[in-house]
Amino acid sequence: MLEGKTGVVFGVANNHSLAWSITKALDSAGAGLAISCQGERFINKIQKLTAEHLKNKPLLLACDVQDEQQIARLYEQIDAAFGRLDFLVHSIAFASREDLEGTFLQTSRDGFRLAMEISVYSLLAVTRLAIPLMREGGSIITLTYLGSRRFMPHYNVMGVAKAALESAVRYLAGELGPQGIRVNALSAGPVNTLSARGIRDFSSFLHTAAAKAPLQRNISGEEVGDATLFLCSDLSRGITGEIIYVDAGFHITGT
Ligand code: NAD
Repeated sequence: MLEGKTGVVFGVANNHSLAWSITKALDSAGAGLAISCQGERFINKIQKLTAEHLKNKPLLLACDVQDEQQIARLYEQIDAAFGRLDFLVHSIAFASREDLEGTFLQTSRDGFRLAMEISVYSLLAVTRLAIPLMREGGSIITLTYLGSRRFMPHYNVMGVAKAALESAVRYLAGELGPQGIRVNALSAGPVNTLSARGIRDFSSFLHTAAAKAPLQRNISGEEVGDATLFLCSDLSRGITGEIIYVDAGFHITGT
């Protein structure tokens, strides 16, 4: 489905990352990939994973999205290697532990700013420099969670960041549509990842979702990977500005 297409995936930390499941799905569909992780310390581990599990050798890059120079350098490397981009996957979020452990009301000013910068502003920052490489249009996908619309105990500032992220998806989709660039979000159900484990009582997210979702189970990273493949491919060419739920239907339940 992605033979001859190239893209970049941001946010692989380890083999539990949603970005890793996404990478595997895109690779198996034949895409040429650049994988961006937060820093050099992740590269060794990810190099091993890619050698063992991917069909095609990806371009492995380190980029902290708080640093504009690192983002610019990343796109220089992608331009030199591929000369074009067809899709971008943004699978990045962060909030400090204290802001996820206390109450939302007690969120610090710095913690609020940090969560918004890394979890929301970074989508704009990485999209802006990708546009010149998306000469034939493109697809941009970010990852969100239902805590954007509902009160989820302990999700706190991340819920507010996800609400802003979903709004950013609509604004970017509106602005970039004329260039043939689509922007969508996947709203995933809970999956046990490094970031998820930072949320207090995360196991109750898993239990509640499995108990109440119409499909009566949790979702897997592979299901998020397959939905991302659909959004990167031409099969989704008529879809933009959308939040698509990959949550076994949990979001339609009343309680
Ligand atoms: P993860 O910890 O594997 O991924 C988060 C990534 O963000 C990591 O790779 C981390 O290095 C990166 N990151 C954080 N700060 C960064 C920075 N300054 N620069 C560059 N990268 C940075 O966890 P995940 O669960 O795979 O999260 C990926 C996305 O999926 C996030 O947006 C998360 O909110 C979203 N999501 C996760 C779940 C879940 O239950 N796991 C559910 C819905 C949505």
